[in-house]
Amino acid sequence: SAKKEKRTAIFYDESMLYDYLHKRDIEHELNKAIVNDELYMAYQPQYSVDGSVVGVEALVRWQSPKLGFMPPDSFIYIAESIGSMDQIGTFVIERSLTDMLALQKSTGVRFSVSVNVSVKQFKKADFFENLMAIINKIGFCAELLILEVTESVLIEDIESIQHLMLKIKQQNIRISLDDFGTGYSSLSILKNLPIDELKIDKSFIADITTDRESRTMINGIISIAKNKNIITVAEGVETKDMLVELSKLDCDVFQGYYFSKPIDKAQLASLLSSQATS
Ligand code: C2E
Ligand code: CA
Ligand code: CA
Ligand code: CA
Repeated sequence: SAKKEKRTAIFYDESMLYDYLHKRDIEHELNKAIVNDELYMAYQPQYSVDGSVVGVEALVRWQSPKLGFMPPDSFIYIAESIGSMDQIGTFVIERSLTDMLALQKSTGVRFSVSVNVSVKQFKKADFFENLMAIINKIGFCAELLILEVTESVLIEDIESIQHLMLKIKQQNIRISLDDFGTGYSSLSILKNLPIDELKIDKSFIADITTDRESRTMINGIISIAKNKNIITVAEGVETKDMLVELSKLDCDVFQGYYFSKPIDKAQLASLLSSQATS
């Protein structure tokens, strides 16, 4: 029929049709994921140069009974497009802060908790109020919270972002600039916004031992950060050689498979208790 032809004509090849149907599947399943308790958190430890855990990054995970394990890169953008990111974001903050407060208490280790905040989530008018409500309800120490945002959050509407960041800073919550160096306006953001920490993107880190250019870039990033009292975190540290190079360049904090993959709360608990007693 004419109607059927029109529908199929939208997809000029099969992989496009597949992508479309798969996206619909993901949307459909995602709507149930929160209520059905399919989302959970993994925590990746972050280390100082002396080898102790100084923080964790909270990373969301989705085990779907129908679609299998879904990495966050495969569903966060879809969640944003269908308006589910609010709920997921709230889940992430609530669960991470609850879990990590419990661990801070049981192990006696003081460590920061970094939470990823998506573009739309950060720009929502009630983001700050919701965040504070959760922090107060749980009783989490605001100084130990770090919000990781990417550059794309920050390029438009600089005045309202400055205003929001000021409110966040007044609560002693820290702001980290994620994937640093991959965007176009990284330096102007450092100049105009109150950034506490920057995470050097793992694409630079991956090349540090083989490529002089990457090494020079990282060196430059760290010097600028030092000058502005900004903490530098290297993500994707996979080998000892990478760690050695990064330490030479005076990077502050290290995160990556060389130290630990993202792990669950129980594994993190035993990792922290061995630190507390050693
Ligand atoms: P990201 O914020 O840049 O997170 C770092 C990613 O690198 C994580 O992937 C982490 O598992 C991975 N990683 C850690 N160490 C290494 C390493 O040594 N080598 C390599 N190659 N990779 C490493 P993951 O967990 O799959 O997350 C992917 C992205 O999804 C994150 O990138 C972040 O943008 C987003 N994401 C994850 N959790 C959340 C969340 O709770 N909220 C939001 N808004 N986004 C999230
Ligand atoms: Ca991150
Ligand atoms: Ca990153
Ligand atoms: Ca990333």
